[in-house]
Amino acid sequence: MIYFYNTLTKKEEEFKPINNDEVGIYTCGPTVYWFAHVGNLRTYIFEDILKRVLMLNGYKVKHVMNITDVGHLTSDSDSGEDKLEKGARAEKKTVWEVAQFYTNRFLKDIKMLNIGDPTILVKATDTIKEQIDLIKILEEKGYTYIISDGVYFDTSKLEKYGRLWGDKEKTELRGRIEEVKEKKHPTDFALWKFSPKDEKRQMEWESPWGIGFPGWHTECVVMSLENLGIPFDIHCGGIDHVSIHHTNEIAQAEAAYGKMMSNYWMHGEFLNVKEGKMSKSLGNIITVSNLLEKGISPLAYRYLCLNTHYRQKLTFSDESLSFAQTTLEKLYEKASELAKETEMPISEKAKDYENRFLSIISNDLDVPVALAMMWDMLKDKNISGYEKYYLLVQFDKVFGLKIKEAVFDKDEFASDRIIIQKITEEGLIAWSRDMNDVPAGIIDMVEKRNLSRENKDWQESDNIRNVISEQGWIIEDRNEQVLLKKKVQI
Ligand code: AMP
Ligand code: ZN
Repeated sequence: MIYFYNTLTKKEEEFKPINNDEVGIYTCGPTVYWFAHVGNLRTYIFEDILKRVLMLNGYKVKHVMNITDVGHLTSDSDSGEDKLEKGARAEKKTVWEVAQFYTNRFLKDIKMLNIGDPTILVKATDTIKEQIDLIKILEEKGYTYIISDGVYFDTSKLEKYGRLWGDKEKTELRGRIEEVKEKKHPTDFALWKFSPKDEKRQMEWESPWGIGFPGWHTECVVMSLENLGIPFDIHCGGIDHVSIHHTNEIAQAEAAYGKMMSNYWMHGEFLNVKEGKMSKSLGNIITVSNLLEKGISPLAYRYLCLNTHYRQKLTFSDESLSFAQTTLEKLYEKASELAKETEMPISEKAKDYENRFLSIISNDLDVPVALAMMWDMLKDKNISGYEKYYLLVQFDKVFGLKIKEAVFDKDEFASDRIIIQKITEEGLIAWSRDMNDVPAGIIDMVEKRNLSRENKDWQESDNIRNVISEQGWIIEDRNEQVLLKKKVQI
């Protein structure tokens, strides 16, 4: 049995899919005006774990994700600029080029984090006609009104508005009316925005109400229901989507079709930094490229996320990230030792671990507890080395740390003073002793640094480290050995 916390009912519920063979999931995708930051990516990791847990429980998953390439405004209050139009102006590119560039980058990022591709990926701009059709239905049913800047949804017409968040009063308390003065109610939201009169937008379309572009909340209703039907099984996103974006998706679907669009609503908590929010406007975002520049494998970031339950806040720091990387390396080393063991039948004791694992992760995706069990299992004297390796590979179907692919022969490096570590295109940590991969100047500096360390000249050793870093390499000391990492650029 699988249990999920359902934001809609605010309790943990047994998961009962609509169709026993295949579970339909919709996840809100990226707004492609900039690089995804590790906060965004935490949400996609949580959704990936959800898919993996369903698959380990024997379900096929049909996963639909949107690419928001239009309509997401810089403010959730239906005011401000379209993030893509603004981004394109800043980069002196067309909106379409910006969207394509950041979509490709996003797909590269998720590959490096071992996040599985969605079954269907849809661009908002490919469903404009369908979005207009939905707004027409809402208009026919009397849920819309028009003001100077667009067509709005009248939330007072919908009895049950706001229940994902709490109730209508609580939603209204969030007070987001100020910015669009003509709105009738604080919670009313834009379905179609008119292009500004004094400005030619790059993305705009004809509609029965005038030239313009769709509001952000409409695209997800269209893309999910077109591909998954109504209702479908699970709708996911980050916690910030509860009060506005998802509340307004539900409102449109309920008004148009008289049904709740999805049976289960699951939301991932935020990743924050010490100072608070991670956001582009605060200039404190970390991207996959930034991880690679620090010599950190994206899979180490994934490991870091696995240590905190998806409904708990996670505070990001460089220290926890480095710790995640060294712990992951230890796990790979351990797996590499165990992988050498001779194959043998799996005992009841080992099968018991497998069953416990399944029940832990099926309990609202309790990955931190599953990870703790994995480390205990590795210390268990009552199961064989081969069984341990077998279990690691089984568990990794959910963890997604590429344990099997990361196996390497550590003994091969035992006598090396310098070991090279590289992060591959798949996010894997790869090891090499081939010094041809390193410029001669760098090796000379490593030797010089070793000498200064032997002489306890820490100042000189640090200076050399900095010069090495400026030349694109990171150096780390591991007991008697030196680890050299190339800073990867993507
Ligand atoms: P966006 O590209 O802004 O549309 O966001 C993509 C996804 O990332 C959404 O599901 C957001 O809810 C989620 N998200 C945004 N910021 C964070 C954060 N700091 N931590 C976790 N998830 C986030
Ligand atoms: Zn959405």
